[in-house]
Amino acid sequence: MNILLIAPSKLVSGEEFGDLPRLVETGYLMEVLSLEMLGAMVPDHNVMLVDLMLEPDLEGIMQSFAPDIAGVTCQGTSLIYNTLDTIKRVKRYDPGIVTLVGGVPVTFQPEAFNKDFIDIIVRGEGEITFREIVDVIEKGGDYKKITGIAYREEGHLVFNPDRPPVANLDELPSPDRNLSLRYFDKYIHPFMKVPRATLYTSRGCPNNCVFCNVNVFFGKKLRCHSPERVINEFDGLDRLGVEAIDFMDDNFLQDVERAEKIVSMARERKMHKKNVIIFARANSIIKGKHVLAVWKEMADDLYVAVGFEGIKNEWLKILKKGTTREMNDRAIDILHELEIPVHGSFIIDPDAEKEDFKELADYIVDRNFTYAGFAPLMPLPGTVLRGKELPYITSDWRFFDGRHVVVPTKLPSDEFYEQWYWLEGVARKQRFKAVKEKQQRVEQDDRATMKKILSLD
Ligand code: SF4
Repeated sequence: MNILLIAPSKLVSGEEFGDLPRLVETGYLMEVLSLEMLGAMVPDHNVMLVDLMLEPDLEGIMQSFAPDIAGVTCQGTSLIYNTLDTIKRVKRYDPGIVTLVGGVPVTFQPEAFNKDFIDIIVRGEGEITFREIVDVIEKGGDYKKITGIAYREEGHLVFNPDRPPVANLDELPSPDRNLSLRYFDKYIHPFMKVPRATLYTSRGCPNNCVFCNVNVFFGKKLRCHSPERVINEFDGLDRLGVEAIDFMDDNFLQDVERAEKIVSMARERKMHKKNVIIFARANSIIKGKHVLAVWKEMADDLYVAVGFEGIKNEWLKILKKGTTREMNDRAIDILHELEIPVHGSFIIDPDAEKEDFKELADYIVDRNFTYAGFAPLMPLPGTVLRGKELPYITSDWRFFDGRHVVVPTKLPSDEFYEQWYWLEGVARKQRFKAVKEKQQRVEQDDRATMKKILSLD
């Protein structure tokens, strides 16, 4: 069968939603791992992956590829409408194509996808579910037996029981990156400006942050790929011609022993990469300092993106982050000691006043951040926060993108936005400063090398 896997465009219509450069800057243009994973599950079929950000002519693609099945991923709450539009286009083109949709927003908001142009909704981790659906479509069978889906029967949505998360991640094949080969030179890292690949080495998170749905979607138990599998996949990414490798795990250092094993194996194999990016929490940086020290040796540049979320213990407590300002300070010190640029993100308290924005700005300047990102509190479906009866100033999903305020703020909203953009301006200056310093270091090294060569002559 011909299976078309589609990543909808992330461009949202309407000037207030921003344009392509802004989306690209926020890292939106990247490999769609979830679809590559699905593609790897059905190697016995003819699979095509299309990223509508880069190839928007969906109808032209359907004309030449003639899909029997179209699997569409919803990559964010703010993209719910884009996803629906995309599936509608598929059904309008050919009502005979079986349409499937999956992703985190689909799992937590299945009713938003209860549309007559959607045949099957995939909830939770989708790989095995997808394989079973394809088998039923190909060979016949009963959707009733497939856990983790909702499907249409006589115009109604029938919900099957949930599917438990995959117990042994190594049983899943590696993502089929051949499906995205034609895109990699366009998957540019937002601030490194080089092509990047991504990989996941674990799923699940035992922490309780109230603004996050990762620990609900993937569960609280940390499940990991074996270090051997991680290293093989990591090493194989060079063939894609990428210059940056982004570990997408929410906290690569969650299990420090495992991270240590992965790094030791990479060292044994004498692996060296240009740019490596990992995500981590402040407390795990403190625990895993020695692991970062080894990573640092194996990459020209190692970036550790940290969700600091706040600089006040009171706020961190409300978010149930499980960290403190003191831990954040210590983690920053460690990063500086190891000469790793400080990259952090913060959630802005809706009650923030002018002095709070100023305090945050001073913090990132005083502690010499290279990159700082800010987003207002955003109660996404599936989070603990969403379960609370918060007042919302909008129910339009397009605004749940981290670039808009969705709950009332203490400052009038235009002042809040003004302060927020001012803060981003401060962060931008920090970034330019870091880029300039790096350039100067490279020039100094180049001059030293030149001197050495000349003196040898
Ligand atoms: S924000 Fe990070 S640490 Fe907190 S629950 Fe989500 S994934 Fe876990």
